[in-house]
Amino acid sequence: MDNEGVFVTKRSIKWLATLALSASLPAAASTCGDQGVWLQVLGSGGPEVGDQRASSSYLIWHNGKARILVDFGSGALLRFEEAQAKIEDLSAVAFTHFHVDHSGDFPALVKASFFSPRTAPLPVLGPSGNHLLPSTEQFVTRLFNESSGVWPYLSDHLSGNGAYPLIPHELASNSTQPTTVWEGVSAKLSGVGVNHGPLPAIAWRADIGGKSIVFSGDMSGRSGTLEKLAQHADLLVAHNAVPESARGVARRLHMPPSVIGTIANAASVTEVVISHRMLRTLERKEETERFIRDSYKGLVHFANDLNCFAVP
Ligand SMILES: [Zn+2]
Repeated sequence: MDNEGVFVTKRSIKWLATLALSASLPAAASTCGDQGVWLQVLGSGGPEVGDQRASSSYLIWHNGKARILVDFGSGALLRFEEAQAKIEDLSAVAFTHFHVDHSGDFPALVKASFFSPRTAPLPVLGPSGNHLLPSTEQFVTRLFNESSGVWPYLSDHLSGNGAYPLIPHELASNSTQPTTVWEGVSAKLSGVGVNHGPLPAIAWRADIGGKSIVFSGDMSGRSGTLEKLAQHADLLVAHNAVPESARGVARRLHMPPSVIGTIANAASVTEVVISHRMLRTLERKEETERFIRDSYKGLVHFANDLNCFAVP
């Protein structure tokens, strides 16, 4: 079954129609509903040029406010703007890992915040590091440290002298039990380590407004931990970076569709959103859905940029 676009709002339906008429036109603004919890896909692509998508990024709306960001790959800041989200409304940003296609636009978001009225500290959640990728603390330090950072002119966000500080929160990437890392007034973020080959990576679960949304991030499915984190979640956002036939390095880093189905079924999630779509999987949508459906019987949606999904 093809549910692509089923949950988009009237405004984003208009956007999809516009896109169909001319792929060269910029995307118009697209907002989710004013009430309840919504998942908006800011970036449904991977790291490639040619997929016509922003890289990985997701925004959770609660009662009309943009509350939680998960990943912020290249192109995400423009989509954030098109979604009419406000930086001052964000409660937390969580990174699944620090590959470029999941984090590349973050410094641009921090710079843009200078022109916003934000004053509240911004929690930045992510994994611990290793020799291949920085820890969450190192990520923000290496970007903004006043003596050694790439952009020392933004160091006020680390020293506490700026409008607001960035507050890193790390979760060990080898953690095997779901752990709550951040808790706000009506939302919390819990994570667990997942296997993304040798790269430190975390899957995140947002519990917000009585709903739950889980983000696999990039992962191979070999850790057996996402099943625990996603138990009875309302939505599971699963990354479709490789087709079923993937072997070698691609398979060591990513889960094939059959594994998405197995995990969604084991976790008894209500609906699945397929994202991180790449050229090698975009052209195999029907095959992807078939392999997922071998073990998972709930709704499966295929994400496009700016789609809004009402959390069931
Ligand atoms: Zn990726």
